[in-house]
Amino acid sequence: MSQKMEKFNQERVIEEFESITKEPGRAQREILRKILEENSNAEYLQKLGLGGRTDPESFKECVPLVTHADLDPYIQRIADGETKPILTGKCITTISLSSGTTQGKPKFVPFNDELKRSTMQIFQTSFAFRNREFPIGNGKALQFIYSSKQFKTNGGLIGNTATTNIYRSEEFKNTMRAIHSQCCSPDEVIFGPDFNQSLYCHLLCGLIYWDEVQFIASTFAHSIVYAFRTFEHIWEELCTDIREGVLSSRVTVPSIRTAVSELLKPNPELADSISKRCLGLTNWCSVIPELWPNAKYIYGIMTGSMEPYLMKLRHYAGSLPLMSADYGSSEGWIGANVNPRLPPESVTYAVLPDIGYFEFIPIREKLEEQQLVNTLSANLYTELEPVGLTEVKVGEEYEIIITNLAGLYRYRLGDVVKVAGFHNSTPELQFVCRKNLVLNINIDKNTEKDLQLAVEAASKLIADEKLEVIDFTSHVDLTTDPGHYVIFLELSGEASEEILRRCCNCLDQSFLDAGYVGSRKVKAIGPLELSVVQRGTFQKIMDNSVKQGAAVSQFKTPRCVGASHSMILQILVSNVVESYFSTAFGCT
Ligand code: AMP
Repeated sequence: MSQKMEKFNQERVIEEFESITKEPGRAQREILRKILEENSNAEYLQKLGLGGRTDPESFKECVPLVTHADLDPYIQRIADGETKPILTGKCITTISLSSGTTQGKPKFVPFNDELKRSTMQIFQTSFAFRNREFPIGNGKALQFIYSSKQFKTNGGLIGNTATTNIYRSEEFKNTMRAIHSQCCSPDEVIFGPDFNQSLYCHLLCGLIYWDEVQFIASTFAHSIVYAFRTFEHIWEELCTDIREGVLSSRVTVPSIRTAVSELLKPNPELADSISKRCLGLTNWCSVIPELWPNAKYIYGIMTGSMEPYLMKLRHYAGSLPLMSADYGSSEGWIGANVNPRLPPESVTYAVLPDIGYFEFIPIREKLEEQQLVNTLSANLYTELEPVGLTEVKVGEEYEIIITNLAGLYRYRLGDVVKVAGFHNSTPELQFVCRKNLVLNINIDKNTEKDLQLAVEAASKLIADEKLEVIDFTSHVDLTTDPGHYVIFLELSGEASEEILRRCCNCLDQSFLDAGYVGSRKVKAIGPLELSVVQRGTFQKIMDNSVKQGAAVSQFKTPRCVGASHSMILQILVSNVVESYFSTAFGCT
């Protein structure tokens, strides 16, 4: 390879991280100064009257907390091609499209070299810690990564999802080479225009390089589970391709065909060996280590909305460790997983104090049931003053606020995190949930996590019939009086009516929030409705998001489908095969 390649120095990366996390307060003041100095001529900052001050106190005093909606007019002007310094000193030339899972529509977010640089920093940091515990050899990674379709904004700026902006960069390719994490598949597969064809070829390339694969990865764990669910149906076709050395006719995109055909040589021995291994498996349990015996672990974001896929991922992974990837967003990175031995259920993310300036709004405990009954307003969270990175307390929950080098100042990301401890003096965060993903009708407030726990409880009943929940979401139906929760489940097969009735009651009883239980008892909320949808419904939802410009790499099933997700709701409702109403709190 003629390209200049920086050698990766694992120990140096760890030392730097250890050093910076010993004095996170200093790192925070420095990064804030850098952000404010480099962008001091930006219109947005100019009008806030900082007058050259860069200290945290003045920053807090002059700069308001904002949401994406507040910054949208500025971002829109950038996207429309205004070349003045609007949010940043240096002109923004690229836009990222965030998945917008919770809002129902993708959002524009500024992207620049600083975000690229911080992405490489976080990738290298977590890799250094991971590799110290689970060293990989020279080889490749079977990575289920996909790009979005590139677009141009009205003003001619390039637009992609943030992951695509990263994958396309030279920095990403160099970093992946340096940490021996290069993707098995050629670029044509990653950047192919058809997700299903790319997935097929990722699997095929993974099998061709079966003995070189050191780990299996994706951005969000959903993509790995999705890939192996697909593998269960197409493995014989993949074997035929390998046996004959001819790519299946299902791959029609010329660039993908050419690139993958070059790698494919007739290999009947490999085809027979794959076939034998697959046929020897029971229900695809441990398929990953069986086919990739040199893989050391599975890597991808496994927390938050990815938790429901862990059981299936473990099923495919067998004894291979599951390691959650880092915590960030299109808006910027926050923390790295530096404790790779922790299982995904208890993984924490150590904040990189030099990657952005972070503040935390404490979230007050929910009120007790009696207080709730007396509460007239459904707004049960009282907004407290944000605190700095070094002021957070273990065990407390916070809404996270980001200030970055790409034009976001005191930006409410919308995530709730919990401080689980400290790495040196920087907080280790646990992802809790999206703040606005709540089921709420009356004085009830159920989060994404509450929904997940309810579905987990119901899944146990479903498992009695040897079935599993493929995916799920929820909706608040206010067209009935009183309103009620609707839970949509896609199952792996047909469950009996008796089990589904029990599931429905179980879901209703699993929402333990005092506001919900109280409201159900006094019939201020109607019986929960369980709607079973046809197989493939959630794939249709993903396809629909991809059509709107989202990338499969960043796809997250929306766990609460509101009015802004009208298209998704339409897909769900038109695919319902049967519905049940709970009798848990007495009949309707
Ligand atoms: P996007 O900008 O579309 O990539 O979505 C970013 C959002 O994904 C974040 O705001 C989080 O809600 C979620 N997310 C990202 N990383 C993690 C993680 N490690 N654990 C849980 N949720 C995450």
